[in-house]
Amino acid sequence: MALIDCKECGNQISDMAESCPRCRVPMSIIKKEPINLSNEDHSNTRAGVTKAKFNEQYSTWLFAQILIIAIAGGIYWESWIIFGAILLGAIVLIGSNKIVGQVVGFLLAAGIGVAGYYVGNYWGEDAAIIVTIIAFLSALGANLA
Ligand SMILES: [Zn+2]
Repeated sequence: MALIDCKECGNQISDMAESCPRCRVPMSIIKKEPINLSNEDHSNTRAGVTKAKFNEQYSTWLFAQILIIAIAGGIYWESWIIFGAILLGAIVLIGSNKIVGQVVGFLLAAGIGVAGYYVGNYWGEDAAIIVTIIAFLSALGANLA
């Protein structure tokens, strides 16, 4: 048997009682858990949803980078095996642990930088260098965030 506080009058009553002896509120109401809709709970839920969405977008972007590098490698070495190896290798390594994932993230950014160099080279040497730096830094920033 435990003593609990009556929600209505604050009187201490046995949890075995059928109602509060002072204010007559039935035990079913006294024992009912309050519906918790505090602001704190709401913001926690929102933060969780935002974080999940961010992670989803982040993994999509990360996967897109892996795919770009894998396709570039496959075309460069004219091999589907290289394509598959880069694709699977990167995904497995990123999933294995945080530090390895960050190293792979860095390598991916470097790969994106190289891809940027080839794209930028279309407009000339200066553009190639600028596109390389922008591509590398933006990929790095996203991967290591
Ligand atoms: Zn009461």
